[in-house]
Amino acid sequence: LVALTGVNKHFGELHVLKDINLSIAKGEVVVVIGPSGSGKSTLCRAINRLETIDSGTIELDGQPLPSEGKSLATLRADVGMVFQSFNLFAHKTILQNVTLGPIKVRKTDPKQAEKRALELLERVGVASQASKYPAQLSGGQQQRVAIARALAMDPKVILFDEPTSALDPEMIQEVLEVMIDLAKQQMTMVVVTHEMGFARSAANRVVFMADGEIVEQSDPETFFTSPTSRRAQDFLGKIL
Ligand code: ATP
Ligand code: MG
Repeated sequence: LVALTGVNKHFGELHVLKDINLSIAKGEVVVVIGPSGSGKSTLCRAINRLETIDSGTIELDGQPLPSEGKSLATLRADVGMVFQSFNLFAHKTILQNVTLGPIKVRKTDPKQAEKRALELLERVGVASQASKYPAQLSGGQQQRVAIARALAMDPKVILFDEPTSALDPEMIQEVLEVMIDLAKQQMTMVVVTHEMGFARSAANRVVFMADGEIVEQSDPETFFTSPTSRRAQDFLGKIL
């Protein structure tokens, strides 16, 4: 579904993605972990074309990513993104946050978009908050709205960049549960997270990045119990 081939990216002198080759199958849940600055966010942002790449190719459904215009808006709908900082529209209600994209980008009938949005808000457990504004919700609730907003676009894949790291401990689980549920329903997901519980219970594959490279990848059980690279061993030693 998503294929990166020989992807390189620099920020000035800094080589942040080094010859990345990664393909993600439909229905697969890939957890990306690695030290701070290893390029995890840049990788996600490149898949969504929030970041350009210097060389290599990124394909979605066998098509190279578009670079501009209407097809770029469609790409951002097809490739949903959930950020650490929720990024909801502060001046719109929860319901409007979820209906806006479908109405604008997918040209969904507003009544239909609203019906679907309420179903999705129900699914993530925040339907009762539909007429409130983001600031009136807890962080965990806001993040669940952000997930509903991504889902409303009927994305082909959703990228999660540290979705729980800005949350208080008691709210982390409620967001992870929504994500585990999505994984069970075969949503294709790329998840940057250090939540090992999530990786163990929901991931099909763990990709370990360090210094802009994919150093190692395997199924979660193998990765957590017997990482082969020194860098992964060191990293796990620090976080586990
Ligand atoms: P973290 O775990 O801290 O979120 P990360 O693995 O997501 O780290 P990236 O955010 O992808 O890392 O950053 C990779 C490197 O690129 C870092 O050294 C970072 O400082 C640098 N970088 C990221 N974005 C930019 C930018 N817009 N301009 C210049 N350098 C950047
Ligand atoms: Mg990051």
